[in-house]
Amino acid sequence: MENIEFYHQLLKDHEIIFSFIFFYIGSIWGSFINVVVYRLPEGLSIIYPPSFCPVCKRKLKWYNNIPIFSYIFQRGRCSFCGAKIPIRYLFIELFTGFYTLVGFILYIKLPDYQFGLWEFLSFLTIGYTGIIISYIDFKYKLIPLQVLLVGSIIQIILLFIGLKFYIWILSPIILDALLGAFLGFFILWIVRLLGNRFFKKEAMGEGDLYLLGYLGLFGGIFSITFILLYSSFLAIIFGLLYMKYKGDKEIPYGPFLVGGFFIHYFMALTGTYYAFLFN
Ligand SMILES: [Zn+2]
Repeated sequence: MENIEFYHQLLKDHEIIFSFIFFYIGSIWGSFINVVVYRLPEGLSIIYPPSFCPVCKRKLKWYNNIPIFSYIFQRGRCSFCGAKIPIRYLFIELFTGFYTLVGFILYIKLPDYQFGLWEFLSFLTIGYTGIIISYIDFKYKLIPLQVLLVGSIIQIILLFIGLKFYIWILSPIILDALLGAFLGFFILWIVRLLGNRFFKKEAMGEGDLYLLGYLGLFGGIFSITFILLYSSFLAIIFGLLYMKYKGDKEIPYGPFLVGGFFIHYFMALTGTYYAFLFN
């Protein structure tokens, strides 16, 4: 554990240079996320074959695969056939880079008991999987359960290794996480049951149940109410826009749940609830 302390200090001492490094490591993850969101819904393997152009199918060279830079230097086109590469590739690389940078800044700025190494890793896990889930749900109206499974396993391992700060409730955190997961699943299960009974249609997809349970695993039992509250706000605002823009009445709810989670996460992390209650 002394080693962690040593590296923590090292990162703090060279804040600027490590900010760039973490941003770029994040964009490498973003590049991997691009592969996952393209291949997973198509039922393709994530590891094999290596990256190829979806239009001309030619295997990319290493220099076609450098996050952010390749896209810019190739002006958003495949270097073999000139096919346009969707802007989302660049966008996801940049976004994941910034997200990772935010995590890094929290890690070096906040006290260790609040946002230590394990919290940082948990933050990255929920963020990276959250991006994948939101994108796939938005595009295909599908919650990728494999992603929830992988993220849950990582989070449970981190919980056992030693997540200290558990967003709001500091008491028995593993129990809290499991209760959070259970409550998240159970509440939406009831909502769905009622919706089916009274409206005679799917009020909510089954995947959303698992997703709220998944978010509860990261946020604890207390987070569920807040996630539902914030996600309904987001759904009202952006759902209406979505319906208007796309002419589609069936709104994917996953991105709103993930968005609601992050509103709650940052409110808890910045102590906004405490300030609200105890001032
Ligand atoms: Zn091509």
